[in-house]
Amino acid sequence: MNMDVLVSLSKRRGFVFQSSEIYGGTGSCWDYGPLGVELKNNIKRVWWRDFVQARADMVGIDASILMHPTVWKASGHLDHFTDPMVDCRECRRRFRDDQVDALAWTHYCAATKGNKFTIPAGEPCGHCGQRRTLCPECGKGELTAPRQFNLMFKTFMGPVEEDAAVTYLRPETAQAMFVNFDNVLQSMRLKLPFGIAQAGRSFRNEITPGNFIFRTREFEQMEIEFFVNPNDRVEGRPADEYWHDRWIEDCMAWFKRYGLREENLRLREHARDELAHYAKRTVDIEYNFPIGWSELMGIANRTDFDLKQHAKWSGKSLTYFDEERKEHVVPFVVEPAAGVDRALLAFMADAYREEEVRGEKRVVLRLHPELAPLKVAVLPLLKKRDDIVRAAHEIRATLARQWRVVYDDTAAIGRLYRRQDEVGTPYCVTVDVQTIGDAERGERGDGRATIRERDSMEQIRVPIPEMPAVFRELLDGGAWQQVAGRYPPARG
Ligand SMILES: [Zn+2]
Ligand SMILES: [Zn+2]
Repeated sequence: MNMDVLVSLSKRRGFVFQSSEIYGGTGSCWDYGPLGVELKNNIKRVWWRDFVQARADMVGIDASILMHPTVWKASGHLDHFTDPMVDCRECRRRFRDDQVDALAWTHYCAATKGNKFTIPAGEPCGHCGQRRTLCPECGKGELTAPRQFNLMFKTFMGPVEEDAAVTYLRPETAQAMFVNFDNVLQSMRLKLPFGIAQAGRSFRNEITPGNFIFRTREFEQMEIEFFVNPNDRVEGRPADEYWHDRWIEDCMAWFKRYGLREENLRLREHARDELAHYAKRTVDIEYNFPIGWSELMGIANRTDFDLKQHAKWSGKSLTYFDEERKEHVVPFVVEPAAGVDRALLAFMADAYREEEVRGEKRVVLRLHPELAPLKVAVLPLLKKRDDIVRAAHEIRATLARQWRVVYDDTAAIGRLYRRQDEVGTPYCVTVDVQTIGDAERGERGDGRATIRERDSMEQIRVPIPEMPAVFRELLDGGAWQQVAGRYPPARG
């Protein structure tokens, strides 16, 4: 699976566009198109339903992106959220110091009268034997000594641009859960363990973003801070360790339930020396992206670091009263943090298939029906017949009260099916002469329309009034085979 195939499909079919494309694009910013926004909303909705709505131990918040600047002092972002960076003195390009040797480099070779070569990363020149010392991009400028570059976007709050008004776009959603810990605890009368979830935008001024929507400067996160009493034990283990493992399992199961294949998922335990200073243990769920195995989400045990830091900097107590032991404790927190854009990329990459059907290539996105941007496409078999077209529009309007449903009559039926397959629409409904009948010939219709299932391409005839109930069953996790068994197959 090649990333270019996904980028091209995304643009062609309205999933993802380059931001401000008519102006040449904005560095690694992407816009979700008509189908992309549906897919993205579906991912967030399903995540929220499964991890917030369905659980008695979870609540949600939606916090503002601009927070008090001291939040970032307390969290450590102001001092530590940095990458080492070097600049070219000639062309002014900027590189991450730790990645500059991983780039192919431009070389004007003295041994060949100054001819220009592009040499693979890490290799010396084949003519003069030199290794890269200058800017890999222009091949002329010297690089500055590395200096720390903070990845937070700085901005000004209020009408004056002065130091006192400096604030930041949040680089993660997590801190809002910590600073609202007491508000949520008191207003909702919660008992440990409980979690606070939030889905929202974050911003990181990455020096080298890239790989389509894998790493972007503006992105959306789905984060949970799950607070546990560190003095409790569950199944004979410290509560924080028990819940950490539970969340790893639950998150892994969630990605599989919505379609990611087992062989494309794995866990990666962070080594001691790569753990963040606050973390007791971190495990990544990695996905085999088109760019190789990379982080899909991280699940960290952040201990009591954040609550303690915010208590210290704000002067407010951020503790929980343990009724049983009659003492105040600072909860530990387990943080399952997923990126929406990355999840979307994984779901699309995993769903993408090229199949051969009767000697022809078929591209199909085998998206889980709950994630698919369009649930049903209604297609008239004869667009010249007003009664058929009218019936198709009526079916669309009825179903569209509950799901995203489209009508399309802009091509022949085979072409229309292929278009829907390519964007992952799980079901198509066709209305034909058999449905409506032919008044001139005195033939009555059977009042049934055809439902075609995307993956098996099987077709059944279903009475039009039963359509809403049938789709409710199918789109609520019902198995196609079970539903199909109750209706006659369509005559090819
Ligand atoms: Zn340069
Ligand atoms: Zn050379």
